Amino acid sequence: MNHGDRAYRALHLALADADAPECSGDDRFILEHHELAADEVKHLRLTVCGPCPLRTLCRAYGDAARPQAGIWGGKVYPPPKPRKRAEVDQ
Ligand code: SF4
Repeated sequence: MNHGDRAYRALHLALADADAPECSGDDRFILEHHELAADEVKHLRLTVCGPCPLRTLCRAYGDAARPQAGIWGGKVYPPPKPRKRAEVDQ
């Protein structure tokens, strides 16, 4: 089990013991990162994730797994930019 799996398990267990978080059923929280404007993510981070009691575990999962869709603990994880090839002297 890797770090992302352990973080997901911890979040899953906490969700089972908690009331449904405010993001539950809100489609904005499962969109791919390019489908959300930065100001919308900021708004959701402050108003929904900020007061969420699961935020620490949710962010820990996001930081560990870097899911390519969704908002996790108020954060999105866009894919890494492709590396530029190093120029080779000829
Ligand atoms: S911190 Fe995670 S569980 Fe809580 S509202 Fe935000 S996305 Fe949902």
